Amino acid sequence: PEDCRVYEFAEKIGKTAGDVIGKLFMLGMMVTKNDFLGNDEIEILGEEYNIEITIKDELEDVNYVEDYAEDEIDKTNYVSRPPVVTIMGHVDHGKTSLLDKIRSSRVAAGEAGGITQHISAYTVNKNGNDITFVDTPGHEAFTSMRVRGASVTDIIILVVAADDGVKPQTIESIKAAKASGAPIIVAVNKIDKETANMDMVKAGMAEHEMSPVDWGGDVEFIGVSALTGEGIEELLENIIIQSELLELEADPTALAKATVIEALQVKGKGAVATVIVQNGTLKVGDNIVADTTFGRVKALLDDQGKAVKELGLSRTGQVVGLGDVPITGSALVAQKSASEAKEIATTRAEHSRAKELSASTKVSLDEMAALI
Ligand code: GDP
Ligand code: MG
Repeated sequence: PEDCRVYEFAEKIGKTAGDVIGKLFMLGMMVTKNDFLGNDEIEILGEEYNIEITIKDELEDVNYVEDYAEDEIDKTNYVSRPPVVTIMGHVDHGKTSLLDKIRSSRVAAGEAGGITQHISAYTVNKNGNDITFVDTPGHEAFTSMRVRGASVTDIIILVVAADDGVKPQTIESIKAAKASGAPIIVAVNKIDKETANMDMVKAGMAEHEMSPVDWGGDVEFIGVSALTGEGIEELLENIIIQSELLELEADPTALAKATVIEALQVKGKGAVATVIVQNGTLKVGDNIVADTTFGRVKALLDDQGKAVKELGLSRTGQVVGLGDVPITGSALVAQKSASEAKEIATTRAEHSRAKELSASTKVSLDEMAALI
């Protein structure tokens, strides 16, 4: 595991810290008992001591949100919440166009006025059902969000261009999507094109264990066109059906827990984090902590850039008020008091500094030899 100091490792395997230090010394590493062990070192030590060690994914432990056991969660205030839908797929297959089209139909419906800025996430309403969409900047960001324990995505839309078929990033998206465990809907885009070939796409996808329902498989394939809008209604209906099956619920009265999907410094505003609220309600004035930084919510902007007092379940928007820019995928969590928020952030910052220091003070025998 990450965050494992030499003495902690020693305790875990029933040896003394001195023994482990000696072993590492033999292997050419100088450490003190308070140094953190890297995964490589742990692996080597495992071999040396002839013990089986499972190392959790390095990023998994960066999950700062407390994981509660199912039965420890108080569900009295649970209400159903909108699904969060992530769009994935090969570059140029039309992810952003599809999102733009879905959003513009909302604008056309008169709900919003002139959206100009690029918004990577937003909520639309379809026959009384809200759906929050997220445009993945890349599957890597998606994976990092997942790995950090913030499985923000409820449903995945895999976009495949009907004239291009399965491509390398399609395959990677399939892998990431399957690993996430979220249900997948395939949107076969660009069906307006003359060269569009639905069967070619289906065959290509079937080769990767993504067999279409009409071929006896269990994956829904929906032909769409981000250009003409064809098929988008059907896609939205499918999303709603899927989300009803998932019975998504959360507690709007809880202290907010959100996931950072994007964050940057903005002149005059400071750190601005785009978040999706997973539980509770995020309010102006909340004491928040995200990653190693903390602050107080000074302003909230909704998915149309409008100042709002709060963001509810599965809502997305921007948070102004953090002291620094948190990493993508980290959890932004409201705390009861400013001091608690500060305490958590400071502890984490110290911890990560200690880890960096321990990494830089480890001297190899070769380096020592050079010093003597
Ligand atoms: P992304 O990289 O997946 O986000 O793809 P984009 O949305 O940027 O689209 C890539 C290109 O395909 C752009 O030139 C779009 O205009 C075009 N495109 C996207 N969707 C469609 C569609 O449904 N039909 C046609 N004909 N072109 C499309
Ligand atoms: Mg794009």
